[in-house]
Amino acid sequence: MNSVQPFILVVEDEEALATLLHYNLDKEGYRVELCADGEEALIRIDEKLPDLVILDWMLPSVSGIEVCRRLRQRSVSRNLPIIMLTARTEESDRVRGLDTGADDYIVKPFLMSELAARVRAVLRRLRPGLAEDQVRQGDIVVDRSAHRVRRGGRDIHLGPTEFRLLDYFMQHPGRVFSREQLLNAVWGSDVYVEIRTVDVHIGRLRRALAGQEGPDPIRTVRSAGYALDL
Ligand code: CA
Repeated sequence: MNSVQPFILVVEDEEALATLLHYNLDKEGYRVELCADGEEALIRIDEKLPDLVILDWMLPSVSGIEVCRRLRQRSVSRNLPIIMLTARTEESDRVRGLDTGADDYIVKPFLMSELAARVRAVLRRLRPGLAEDQVRQGDIVVDRSAHRVRRGGRDIHLGPTEFRLLDYFMQHPGRVFSREQLLNAVWGSDVYVEIRTVDVHIGRLRRALAGQEGPDPIRTVRSAGYALDL
């Protein structure tokens, strides 16, 4: 299992298009989940933050534009990469003219190759660490292909869970995550793990990263969670 496979949430109520997007993005190496409803999308994103959202403009219950607006109001999803899908009507002019908060948009119908290129471009621009084999923040380097971590030139030995935790923090430096968000991101939302387990693994990660190299990079935010500061 590749723990750094980027996670894309597709919010699209047209089943045929959703299936096609799922198939093609999966082929590109992304982990894809589908959602057909704006309200549900907001809940799902709260539970587990995707690396990118493909968001249809016209959705039942809450429109894509409203979903986008609400995502931008929440601190956890303020910088979440969003690509809007719009129909070739006046709406495509509106989405272009309005400050929707989306990072890019694509007009239906479109070629899957074009969408894939847009996804790659948005991820490269907004989540530069995601596609790389090596991620560096401060004096910490995570080498994903070799499954190796170094701090200040010293090899750090981590268990698989601590490795995934650190990798997740490295992708979102400075951002505070609740224990629930870390559980969902690192262990998965379909696994039952006690919330205290997060503290145990944070403790192990801290001890592994400690040394003469520098201060403890993991910040405990009282009653909120943890963040990586480098
Ligand atoms: Ca639609």
